[in-house]
Amino acid sequence: MPSTTSPHVRAIPIGGRPGDQPLAIVERLQAELQAGLTAEAEWGAERALLRAMIDQVPDYLFVKDLECRFLIVNTAVAHIHGFRDPDMLIGKTDFDLHPFDRASGFFEIEQAIIETGCPMIDMEEVVVDAETGKRRWLSTSKVAMRNDQHQIIGLVGISRDVSVRKRADLLRDEQALVLEMIAMNSPLEEVLDRIVRLIEAQLEGVLGSILLLDESGNHLKHGAAPNLPPDYCRAIDGVAVGPKAGSCGTAVHRRTNVVVSDIMGDPLWADYRELAAQHGLRSCWSTPILSHQGAVLGTFAMYSHGVREPGNFETDLTDMATRIAAIAIERKLAEDQISFLAHHDILTGLPNRSLLKDRLVQAMLQTERHNPCVSVVFIDLDNFKSINDSQGHSAGDELLKIVAHRMVECVRPVDAVVRLGGDEFVILLVDQPEGSDAISVTLDRVRTAISEPITIGGRVFHVTCSMGVATFPHDGADAETLLMNADAAMYKVKEAGGDGFQFFTVQMNITVHERLALQDAMRDGLARSEFYLLYQPQIDLKSGEIFAVEALVRWRHPTLGVVSPDRFIPLAEETGLIVPLGDWILNEACRQNKAWQDGGLLPVSVCVNVSARQFQDKNLIKNVTSALTESGLSAEYLELELTESLVMRDVEQAIATMKELQSLGVHFAIDDFGTGYSSLSALKSLPVSRLKIDQSFVRNLAQDEDDRTITAAVISLGQRLKMKVIAEGVETDEQLTFLRESHCDEIQGYHFSRPVEAAAIAALLSTD
Ligand code: C2E
Ligand code: MG
Ligand code: MG
Repeated sequence: MPSTTSPHVRAIPIGGRPGDQPLAIVERLQAELQAGLTAEAEWGAERALLRAMIDQVPDYLFVKDLECRFLIVNTAVAHIHGFRDPDMLIGKTDFDLHPFDRASGFFEIEQAIIETGCPMIDMEEVVVDAETGKRRWLSTSKVAMRNDQHQIIGLVGISRDVSVRKRADLLRDEQALVLEMIAMNSPLEEVLDRIVRLIEAQLEGVLGSILLLDESGNHLKHGAAPNLPPDYCRAIDGVAVGPKAGSCGTAVHRRTNVVVSDIMGDPLWADYRELAAQHGLRSCWSTPILSHQGAVLGTFAMYSHGVREPGNFETDLTDMATRIAAIAIERKLAEDQISFLAHHDILTGLPNRSLLKDRLVQAMLQTERHNPCVSVVFIDLDNFKSINDSQGHSAGDELLKIVAHRMVECVRPVDAVVRLGGDEFVILLVDQPEGSDAISVTLDRVRTAISEPITIGGRVFHVTCSMGVATFPHDGADAETLLMNADAAMYKVKEAGGDGFQFFTVQMNITVHERLALQDAMRDGLARSEFYLLYQPQIDLKSGEIFAVEALVRWRHPTLGVVSPDRFIPLAEETGLIVPLGDWILNEACRQNKAWQDGGLLPVSVCVNVSARQFQDKNLIKNVTSALTESGLSAEYLELELTESLVMRDVEQAIATMKELQSLGVHFAIDDFGTGYSSLSALKSLPVSRLKIDQSFVRNLAQDEDDRTITAAVISLGQRLKMKVIAEGVETDEQLTFLRESHCDEIQGYHFSRPVEAAAIAALLSTD
């Protein structure tokens, strides 16, 4: 056990003469020694030599007694504690020099060494340099000091200043940490904050700041400045880039470092001087943060409270900080870009389906809290496809962009316009008051905006749209249902000819489910050959002969029985199933007609109904050609029935398609004529050989004077345009008589025959 009662070592002040330089002392002492002085003098000289020696050492050397009082210290120890003369420390303890906590820490360790005799080797300690106020890291070893009897009489300590190495270690560790944060996708603000703190930890009296260049490239917004006064940060948030815009705005403008060592006198700070002064900021060095392609991403600045210029160390640190900041910012920009692409439609820049769901769910949650409604408006352009097909995709794209932009202009910034794909859009109207008035006003605005003429490549287009509205919570409790119901309402508008909007009703909901079931069943039906054709004869009124038959599709559903085309054709049209179904009908009708002819029957035309989607399908011409080739039917015996609304959607495109088919020899009839709004003269330019007066006119011929007038007018005008006119749905003698008197060319209807199976037609034709 070391004795704690052993006598204290007396403090022996040793040293040269005041003012002596250490080397001079050594030389002098050596000279004296060599001169062979007395033993006393020798001893004095030896002490002086020792003194000089320990003062030469840059490390901190000290000896303490059992109570941890300084007995011997070298000048380095004196200086770090703010004393010029080492003697001034003799007899003091750490409690006289350091804050209590730190002093206690030292004391406990030293007492343990004294008690146990175990040394402490290379322990790291932090002290504040009393002269410079800077923190210093010391690596300290302390060992027990023993007398001749091996009793512990105190301790000897030696500390080495490892601040430079320590800072470098810290810098390296922090750098690694920041890079790790970047790799781990930490929020940019946190990464930038860390970078600033890293630099601040390396430099005394410096406050770091990172500003980010905004999208416009004209303003700098706050990035990170953990230790600058928050008021100052707020004031410079959004500062403009320019030739005289403080250090940072100017650094971006010049794309190079701007060192302002004294804000008070520098013209670049004229507009911000007062602001800086208010916060005691005196110098500011700013460096642009550049992407690896050289684009400016922001600035890294170091402020200090005094007039100051950067040295090499500061410049190196700045380089490092801006490099890491650039990596972090670029990474964030790339991430933002990826997430933008994932959530937006590239063509229009509008949010896409994935973002719609999020926004809708958010809006619904808010609604539950604050009460007003959220409405989903499903929008489909009425005649986009034909423009796209006829004018090419780039024109189509241009048109979509214009329409998208117009829609955005019609709604408030809180609302959202989303592109689902193709020509389908959704508008999310949030915070809607109860009732449909406000929505109607908005939708009218959208409708008007969309229908304004659109000029692309010198051509003018008129686009209309169909819109369906479903409102949360009445029309659906979740995003999925709302969208489906808005879609259902939109289809009602489509069915009614488009160009308008419709609010969802529960009635539609029923049909939505039915529709889905029917749609699946149809798909199966097509695969299982549940569809078949009936044929209805068309009679020439003069000769009384059958000159054509209309092919009318039927669906024999395994449980529903025979389903009428009125129920499934519109659905097939909506879902696109009409394309494969229509193609099957076309082939079957041609095959059947050729079979009759091959069977030796009088040749007649077969009339095939073509619906809008089928007509717009890019494969139509190819499909018709192949149906004719496959069957071997001559094209003159094929007539395609188009409705006027179908043709009128895009007359030019219709003419182009019809002409191409006409060149094959195929004929055209306008079906359900009179139900659309097209004038006869509009049909003049179409290669149409037959007009089919809609049954709604024929039905009331006996009773309705107007219908008689219209029918007679259509007959005479049609004929003047060199078309044959056929009346559909002729059931009675009265109708027939009137039609004969009006010189109608042909009739079709139950009066002569219902639609019948192919075999029955064969019978009718053979008896002819
Ligand atoms: P549509 O082309 O105008 O066909 C005429 C419709 O009137 C047929 O109904 C026919 O059965 C019916 N009809 C004929 N004569 C009379 C009559 O004297 N009185 C009455 N009340 N009706 C008569 P259907 O077969 O139910 O077809 C309805 C509609 O479905 C067709 O109207 C057509 O637009 C569509 N459709 C039928 N078959 C096809 C097809 O193969 N492809 C396409 N795309 N649509 C078809
Ligand atoms: Mg028809
Ligand atoms: Mg018809």
